[in-house]
Amino acid sequence: MTELPGAAQGPGDDPRGVELAERLAAVRKRIATAAESAGRGDTLPTLIVVTKFHPAGDIRRLAALGVTDMGENRDQEAAAKALELADLALTWHFVGQLQTKKAKSVARYASAVHSVDRPQLVDALAKAVRNEMDSGGRAPLDCFIQVSLDHDGGGMHRGGARAADVPVLAELITGVEGLNLAGVMAVAPLGAPPEQAFEKLAGISARLVAAYPAASGISAGMSQDLEAAIKFGATHLRVGSDILGSRPAVG
Ligand SMILES: *Cc1c(COP(=O)(O)O)cnc(C)c1O
Repeated sequence: MTELPGAAQGPGDDPRGVELAERLAAVRKRIATAAESAGRGDTLPTLIVVTKFHPAGDIRRLAALGVTDMGENRDQEAAAKALELADLALTWHFVGQLQTKKAKSVARYASAVHSVDRPQLVDALAKAVRNEMDSGGRAPLDCFIQVSLDHDGGGMHRGGARAADVPVLAELITGVEGLNLAGVMAVAPLGAPPEQAFEKLAGISARLVAAYPAASGISAGMSQDLEAAIKFGATHLRVGSDILGSRPAVG
């Protein structure tokens, strides 16, 4: 009898699987250590593995290693992967800047959007999610308000609302059906200590939670700064390259 093509006979037959297992274990260990030293070893943050630019096969390998939460930042790529991997019952997190015209597509597969940063996007997502709910398919969408921590004056190159605009967005999100206010999200600015950024984000989160106690999520921390994020209360980490390796450069 011949072997079925693609059937793995053991870990040694899939070097990429071994590599991902090792890298994932190393990141999990960093998370556990950081949580321990922050005195929160019993409430580990959710690990979202950001799989952008990496093939669906890698996501299958990660799922086999127990990863349930995947992050993507481009709708076209994410939609294709979600369709191809529909048998895995994964939780998809959209973490990139999002055009309103993509809301309809994102509402088909995403459980959470981490980049809600303007009223028009709230409207577009609410409408798209309600359509999907009406046709029977989905639960409310978790919305993280993305806050820009580097350009409070309004530079928007990486997306994100000004801290001062968080209350307005929170009110809009909680005022519509289909959206669930999950918390805040930020990317630490380049060229400054991440601790400062995440401490600021923790303050913004505390003010939000005072008004909306259920919105206690803090999506913060990537490969380079997950320890700092955990120290300042991150509940959701978005880790890509330290698990998957470097991404091909984009032009
Ligand atoms: C790519 C990306 C990540 C993961 O970054 P790494 O440095 O690869 O860990 C996290 N958050 C967002 C918004 C991203 O676009």
